[in-house]
Amino acid sequence: MTSRTQIENPTPKRSIVWSNAAFLTLTPPAAIITATWYAVSVGITWIEVTACVALWIVVGLSVTAGYHRLFSHRAYQASFPVRLFFALFGAAAWENSIIAWAAAHRFHHRHVDSQDDPYNPQEGFWYSHMGWIMVEGSKHDDTSNVPDLWKDPICRWQHKYYLAVSTVTNLAITIGLGLITGRMLGMFIFALLVRVVLTHHFTFLINSAAHIWGSQRWSTAHSAKDNWFLSFFTFGEGYHNYHHSFQADYRNGALWYNWDPSKWLIWLLSRLGLAQDLRRSHVDIRLQRLFAEAQRQFSERFDSLEEAFNEFRERAQTAMSESPLSQLRQQFASAEERCEQTLEELKAVRSKWQATLRTGGNRLPESRNLKRQLKRTHRQARSAQREWQRLGQAYLATAAATVHA
Ligand SMILES: [Zn+2]
Ligand SMILES: [Zn+2]
Repeated sequence: MTSRTQIENPTPKRSIVWSNAAFLTLTPPAAIITATWYAVSVGITWIEVTACVALWIVVGLSVTAGYHRLFSHRAYQASFPVRLFFALFGAAAWENSIIAWAAAHRFHHRHVDSQDDPYNPQEGFWYSHMGWIMVEGSKHDDTSNVPDLWKDPICRWQHKYYLAVSTVTNLAITIGLGLITGRMLGMFIFALLVRVVLTHHFTFLINSAAHIWGSQRWSTAHSAKDNWFLSFFTFGEGYHNYHHSFQADYRNGALWYNWDPSKWLIWLLSRLGLAQDLRRSHVDIRLQRLFAEAQRQFSERFDSLEEAFNEFRERAQTAMSESPLSQLRQQFASAEERCEQTLEELKAVRSKWQATLRTGGNRLPESRNLKRQLKRTHRQARSAQREWQRLGQAYLATAAATVHA
């Protein structure tokens, strides 16, 4: 599919967005180097680990339950404080404003696997993972598909002051944690740098890995896959085949045992009166989709099996027609024809000879000639029958040997 898409629509030349490219290229090695240096020279304690993991969870959930399910898909309604919380802590992920994020994401769902998909998985792992952020894309500045978000004052404000909001939130959290714990440097490395890299790449994996590895029980109309392993690191976003099939559902892991902390958070918010109108796919539509997909897969497998069976039958027929047994059977049939032919000839000659006998007796030259011809044809008919007998016996013996082999 990749090669066909690329041949039909060659990948366009895209100019690089240097600020994004530099940020995404430099932060991972900076995080590894500074974290290693800190571990060796200062020492990592549970404080750095807890701060990093806790913030990764808070910021990550703000992206998955907020940016993604609330703002991009309108899978539920949330109260003002919840929307503000997601706008602030989601900005701390440094994954752009809600409006820009949701616009790209809605284009992804609408044009999935095509050139109008901002993170088109058909362009390979790295492009869909982070390459698309580093280059100009046709849909990058297009926010025409989020008119609802433009009406939301929180989204408008966050979009307008995105750089300031993301920077101030990150600095406020980091400096605040540094003052509380007395480990300011550790917080800058683990609560900020390492956590930003973790949040980035676990989000990115949904656009790359979740379109490559996993199962497709809900639909094969798109490349999205269900991957429970990925869900452990992405707050439930790994059930991506389900999500692309039922994008308005507030759950990505629809079954109660599917690891989906984002859905549990949304459910908890609804119990606390902070979220409403949680949308779920209907049970009959889900079952119908499962049935249709299984039906399609069965029919595909049946067709390919039938094709393989037809090929096998043709090969077997060719092999049979070329086998010594089949050749003997054909020779036997020809010998049988020859027997019938010689018998006919013998009968014709004998009739003629008898006719000459009745008219002129035994001494006529024609009668003598016919008598000689009669003897010759008789020999030929007997010889044809002996050959036919021999071939018949040979066929029976070969057939018996083949069957009992
Ligand atoms: Zn996707
Ligand atoms: Zn989505």
